[in-house]
Amino acid sequence: MTHTQDPGKGHEVVGSVIYGPVRSRRYGNSLGINLSPMGKKVCTFNCVYCQLGWGDEKKTCGRDDFLSSDVLLGEISQGLFKHLSENDAEVDNIVVSGNGEPTLHPDFALLTHHLIHCAKKNKARMPVICFTNGSTLSDDRVFDALQMFDECCVKLDAATSKIDLPNAAFNLDAARARMAALDHLVIQSCFVEGVLSNTHADEVGAWVDSLEWLSPKRIDIYTISRNTPHNGLTAVAPDALSRIANHLSERGYKSVRVCI
Ligand code: SF4
Repeated sequence: MTHTQDPGKGHEVVGSVIYGPVRSRRYGNSLGINLSPMGKKVCTFNCVYCQLGWGDEKKTCGRDDFLSSDVLLGEISQGLFKHLSENDAEVDNIVVSGNGEPTLHPDFALLTHHLIHCAKKNKARMPVICFTNGSTLSDDRVFDALQMFDECCVKLDAATSKIDLPNAAFNLDAARARMAALDHLVIQSCFVEGVLSNTHADEVGAWVDSLEWLSPKRIDIYTISRNTPHNGLTAVAPDALSRIANHLSERGYKSVRVCI
């Protein structure tokens, strides 16, 4: 999932399986892996700040909308070999992200096994990371596959759904229970202000409460840096992000990264 790769320095909707390296605030130079359909966003969320724009809420995706696993296995093998043999020094990490929620690919588990295998075979020295919104964590095959990543970055922007606009099937409490069991959990939280905001003290307090029981290895907080599909949103000032980080520290979270 794109989730947070830096606009202007990150990517928009991509038309390939392997893309980049793209530069982002949090991850440096990332070699991207897109398991979603080519050229269009497919996601279970419709975040108000999504750099891919609004998704089509009415459209559901079937297996035919995705590239087959045979095609993707080949693209991953060739793409990793090519990039890691030619540009290894320029790549800080390999990130499964792309045109939406990557775990929606029907063969996500198979593709993850292959990706990790290829990274090892190519002696990749960089971490392999997956961005997810957590909406498919109840699927054991997806959960087990996510355990294979060096970091599983799960979106948790607020204790309510007003920022992420998940589909009707999403249940935050159920997702949080599964997040708590992830071994390499990183929480990624985007804060916005303007006509919609998740920075008011009561909202930040509820968000911090929602992190209870989770033991993330890190929490990344950041804000928008480009135009958003929802009009009237503005970036959060660095000092306000720092206050949120301080709030987390006071609640005992040791590893908090403010990405500005
Ligand atoms: S989770 Fe949100 S930010 Fe990520 S692709 Fe889906 S709508 Fe966009």
